[in-house]
Amino acid sequence: MELIDTHCHLTFDPLASDVEQVLQRSRAAGVTGWITVGTEIQDSKKAIELAGRFENMYAAIGIHPHDAKNVTADDLAELKKLAQNQKVVAIGETGLDFHYDFSKKPAQTKVFAEHLKIAAELNLPVVIHCREAFDETIKILDEYASGVKKAVFHCFSGSAEQARIVLKRGFYISFTGVVTFKNARIKQQAAKIVPLDRLMLETDCPYMSPEPMRKQKVNEPALLIHTAHCLAELKQMPLADFVQAVTATTKTFFNLPSATVSNLT
Ligand SMILES: [Zn+2]
Ligand SMILES: [Zn+2]
Repeated sequence: MELIDTHCHLTFDPLASDVEQVLQRSRAAGVTGWITVGTEIQDSKKAIELAGRFENMYAAIGIHPHDAKNVTADDLAELKKLAQNQKVVAIGETGLDFHYDFSKKPAQTKVFAEHLKIAAELNLPVVIHCREAFDETIKILDEYASGVKKAVFHCFSGSAEQARIVLKRGFYISFTGVVTFKNARIKQQAAKIVPLDRLMLETDCPYMSPEPMRKQKVNEPALLIHTAHCLAELKQMPLADFVQAVTATTKTFFNLPSATVSNLT
């Protein structure tokens, strides 16, 4: 089996300080590829560095909407320069988060639009963080994403109806362990209607461990297998077939070499 964790923060502690062990447990669980995601410039540099150290690890780089208020033109120029590293496979995470008021809406919107511009120029896919900002996110995408080839709504928390709006625009949807929670019926209904060639999986670790490991405080890539089980069941298909399909989708989305992951089984 070769699952790819499409959104993890391996530069965050406590994962970063124990990364060799974290990856070993991950491989043992069948999670053999990783996209580690940067959330600001320094963290994006760390993500690129880390990805450079390990086979089958890649970086997505961006500035999280929480930090939008501090972003300068120099930061965006630097982001663009960093994105030319060959381990960088996507721009993000970027987007809108109106749950927390860490940055005002106009700042978030502007920085999001700038990320979309960079992604279009460099022909990279975009990883979108969207929290309590669905309509506004779609609006920005409709306005600025015409040059963007591919985009994924990460940690999707919307309804089936919202999933349809995303899919209709040709975008992808990625689910975290939140979809395994007992109160996640609406998200599960959304997952049901997302075709396998648009669906990806992620841990978003170190946050949000999936059931039945929800009590394990620190999430890590190895736990992605629980989310895969849950979604394969929702899709009423064997786990191996489900994993094969979403891994193929992941490789297409991030333009990963098709033999990135050695298949030992
Ligand atoms: Zn996010
Ligand atoms: Zn994240």
